[in-house]
Amino acid sequence: MKKNILITGANRGIGLETARQLGKLGHSIILTARNEDRLMEAVHQLKSEKMEAHALVMDVASEESIRQAAVEFGKLKIKLDVLINNAAILSGEDESILHSNESLQIQTITTNGLGPLRVCKAFLPVMNKPSRIINISSGGGSMTDPVGGWAPAYCVSKSLLNAITRQLANELMEDGISVNAVCPGWVKTKMGGASAPRSVSQGAVTPVWLATEAPQNLSGKFFRDKTEIPW
Ligand code: NAP
Repeated sequence: MKKNILITGANRGIGLETARQLGKLGHSIILTARNEDRLMEAVHQLKSEKMEAHALVMDVASEESIRQAAVEFGKLKIKLDVLINNAAILSGEDESILHSNESLQIQTITTNGLGPLRVCKAFLPVMNKPSRIINISSGGGSMTDPVGGWAPAYCVSKSLLNAITRQLANELMEDGISVNAVCPGWVKTKMGGASAPRSVSQGAVTPVWLATEAPQNLSGKFFRDKTEIPW
């Protein structure tokens, strides 16, 4: 069955590759991001590969931009079957939890943690029941792995996203909406850099699985490589 799938941060990297893999399966994809030119280019690319794709500009760090995007989405007169919160930032200046610039830390936590929660709140009224929410997190957000000593604000933002995932899963259980988090592994993208061992196509495997083949009743869990991992 064809699904309507909205992906944040989908004009490059893991978001765009997830859009491509899901588009190839025949699903209709709503790609969102801040940079409109790159977004239109991504949508054009997918359409030229015979996929159904729409563009929606949305800055997940701005409540007003999220509100406007939800209004624009309403004009499509469709409901969402899957929402993938993929957009995130990781700054090279995010070096110390004690000494890094606080506005950078707040921006990181707002974009990567609060942003997905606000996107969920704005789009829940247009989500089907049942449907699925997938939050792209990171092993950096794990509370059980040792602290890696890199990008502390980013790691804190992903721990927040994991905590939000569990709370949302609990509150949305009775509506039949599953909510899970994914660590895509270390992936070759603008964020992951050239030395990352995984390709974007490997990075998209688990989000694509959760959006499609994973059992609907799987919820409130954290996955890597289609396998549950500890929070
Ligand atoms: P990327 O190449 O840097 O892409 C990030 C995407 O997010 C871009 O489309 C960007 O587009 C968008 N974005 C950034 N800030 C945004 C905002 N405020 N509002 C809306 N869109 C925004 O990163 P990636 O490697 O594909 O990462 C995708 C996801 O995987 C992220 O959640 C990341 O934390 C996670 N992850 C990645 C790795 C890795 O090794 N790459 C590892 C673990 C987890 P615009 O700038 O145009 O908005």
